[in-house]
Amino acid sequence: TAPMTAESTTQPPSPQPHFVLAPLAAHGHVIPMVDLAALLAAHGARASLVTTPLNATRLRGVADKAAREKLPLEIVELPFSPAVAGLPSDCQNADKLSEDAQLTPFLIAMRALDAPFEAYVRALERRPSCIISDWCNTWAAGVAWRLGIPRLFFHGPSCFYSLCDLNAVVHGLHEQIVADDEQETTYVVPRMPVRVTVTKGTAPGFFNFPGYEALRDEAIEAMLAADGVVVNTFLDLEAQFVACYEAALGKPVWTLGPLCLHNRDDEAMASCGTGSTDLRAITAWLDEQVTGSVVYVSFGSVLRKLPKHLFEVGNGLEDSGKPFLWVVKESEASSRPEVQEWLDEFMARTATRGLVVRGWAPQVTILSHRAVGGFLTHCGWNSLLEAIARGVPVATWPHFADQFLNERLAVDVLGVGVPIGVTAPVSMLNEESLTVDRGDVARVVSVLMDGGGEEAEERRRKAKEYGEQARRAMAKGGSSYENVMRLIARFSNTGGAMTSAASAAGSFLPHSLGTD
Ligand code: UDP
Repeated sequence: TAPMTAESTTQPPSPQPHFVLAPLAAHGHVIPMVDLAALLAAHGARASLVTTPLNATRLRGVADKAAREKLPLEIVELPFSPAVAGLPSDCQNADKLSEDAQLTPFLIAMRALDAPFEAYVRALERRPSCIISDWCNTWAAGVAWRLGIPRLFFHGPSCFYSLCDLNAVVHGLHEQIVADDEQETTYVVPRMPVRVTVTKGTAPGFFNFPGYEALRDEAIEAMLAADGVVVNTFLDLEAQFVACYEAALGKPVWTLGPLCLHNRDDEAMASCGTGSTDLRAITAWLDEQVTGSVVYVSFGSVLRKLPKHLFEVGNGLEDSGKPFLWVVKESEASSRPEVQEWLDEFMARTATRGLVVRGWAPQVTILSHRAVGGFLTHCGWNSLLEAIARGVPVATWPHFADQFLNERLAVDVLGVGVPIGVTAPVSMLNEESLTVDRGDVARVVSVLMDGGGEEAEERRRKAKEYGEQARRAMAKGGSSYENVMRLIARFSNTGGAMTSAASAAGSFLPHSLGTD
């Protein structure tokens, strides 16, 4: 063969692949997407995360850190006006909702992000290689479709959950449940590799309540029209569900997690919440505790407990006799004057073995500390996976959405959880009914933290094993690490000059999505 000439070997350098990420404006969706953006950037891709002004301000620590480290990661602020849906101007993240009735207007207001998002993408010099948009963000799916840009959807929960949800939709269970007035009927989720049962209340589905049908239908159509899905999980945790989900979806499933293990910087994330986070004081307190003795108690970023519920949690922790670190949100603590009064007395009584963190807690740092031996969690997927990634067994107290199925995965499939025993969902912010009392809290904490018990020992052993597998998945040569490399390679040639934006040939989206 003829030797290659200098000319033929000189290729123009291939442009840097560019991923644009569009999370739903709620911490449980923004945080893993920020971790994902950092991960892509660390592997040399350009990553731009678009969000509302409030969230962009809160993520300034992340943007500054990226700038210092010269990572190609940027936080892009999109103009946003919650007033279009009659909401206060700071209502730009789910943690700003003050009553359940604001959720629908909030989601509707979000749809108005499509115009500024499209303007941002059109103004880019080169067409992005790929848009990764939250399952809930059909407005971002519409923009990708209009501009002919490949799109992956990011669905917050596990493949176990997503497979249950997809199978419920595809095989008619969802319709059957919606039509049934009975709350207690037990249904078997079809085509699952393990037996999974649900009731109307615990059935899969985001937007799974009356009034959300249009949003849900649209999200499902956008899901079916996407080029694949990115999931915050790892293969060794749920290989059979990943395989079945990929087969059922008929698209690639990119498992890239646990994303929290990629260099999450709790100090840079402190501004995500309100209330002061004194990382050093928390660590200093944990340093004084016996290894594996502390139960960490937190219920995620959106759920807000009324005073009477907070009191049950606190009294239950006191009754359990175990050391604890309990996160009380600023919005809970300041809801009524009697709460602060109660907390002051409670802290005085339990000061020798408990710490109450008021506001935003550095959760991953806490879960990584050797003193933490268990986590009482609401089973938000991020919290559950963060516990698993750090080898911490859990007590499960699901409240709504995907949390009941996440509980099933933790308890029945993985064997790392002990249930508190709730069977029906509650509302996010204004829940009146008392489904769990201090006795339940004390019991589940005692069972979880039990020193010598065989079952507790087995949960700890399994959690530790998954923790080690999680670290291996994210390390060089691990399944998630390799998937990130493959993902970047897969989309490295799909960008192009913005002016040559392809038409939407090959992908389809319903008219309403593409044009409204
Ligand atoms: N989180 C945190 N500090 C807090 C509360 C929440 O760091 O005080 C983080 C937590 O680590 C997780 C996310 O917020 O990454 C919450 O997501 P999850 O899916 O667990 O629950 P959600 O908030 O969506 O109900």
